[in-house]
Amino acid sequence: MILGLAAAALLLILILRLTACKGTGKADNVGTGSSPKGRIFDGSYGVTGEAVAFQPAIDAPADNGNAAGTESVSISGALGMAGSAVFDVSDGTAAEENGSSALSSEEERLLRLKAEKPDIDINSWEYILANGFHSIEDYEPPWTEEFRGVYLDYRIIGPMSEFVSDAESQGLTVCMISGYRSYYTQSYLFEEKAAEYDGDEDIAGTIVARPGTSEHQTGLAADIADEYYSIMNSRLSFTELYQWMSRHCHEYGFIVRFPEGKEESTGIIFEPWHYRYVGVEAATFIMENNLTLEEFVELYR
Ligand SMILES: [Zn+2]
Repeated sequence: MILGLAAAALLLILILRLTACKGTGKADNVGTGSSPKGRIFDGSYGVTGEAVAFQPAIDAPADNGNAAGTESVSISGALGMAGSAVFDVSDGTAAEENGSSALSSEEERLLRLKAEKPDIDINSWEYILANGFHSIEDYEPPWTEEFRGVYLDYRIIGPMSEFVSDAESQGLTVCMISGYRSYYTQSYLFEEKAAEYDGDEDIAGTIVARPGTSEHQTGLAADIADEYYSIMNSRLSFTELYQWMSRHCHEYGFIVRFPEGKEESTGIIFEPWHYRYVGVEAATFIMENNLTLEEFVELYR
């Protein structure tokens, strides 16, 4: 009961935070010229960038504006572990044993990635993997600190504040939407969603990440939107903010965690607002080679 009240209070705070961003209108209103600093590239959207095939059918977060906690829509149910098949090739020997000496370009790419991957300890905290295929149970960051209204693992406050202030020095407007969410908050959000569907957790699981599978539970991820376009949908990718942040995030140790076209690997639709800290070395390697965290971690197995 107390837990429920606490979670409800947190949810209220999150919702209030959302209204603090100036652009929380309907997606359709964006780009009409009503907001002089909206910074959407005119005429671009609708042509590319829409992850239409992977848009969740039910109650998409972008439609109801309830961004807190209901993003990270899993499509794992439909796709299963499809993404991992890409990385089944552990080395080049299998093809040779089968009498085929020529490696496919994909196999060659994997061999190159494995050879060139950063020399890091993949079990270190920066690389914690939380997704629909891999639960982190009730993991908690050592401690969290507040940054512009959201909480993050204290170890990434420095890189995040540099990232954000450098974006602002470009004249961009940053709205921090969401950071750390505890296992219990996520449980509350999940159960609340399930209750909307008569307790059907399978449906709820396609809308809200199950507790233990949301990356926000690591404290290493943040949802960042434009102050004038704070709706979390694929159109955010047409803001100058995203254009700049996605190009420079690795310099601060962050990656675009759920890139477009990688839905089979992550199990999550394109999320141009969700950044994850992995450190500069890994982030640079991941972004330069167009990898997901799933694919990166797999290189070390
Ligand atoms: Zn997120």
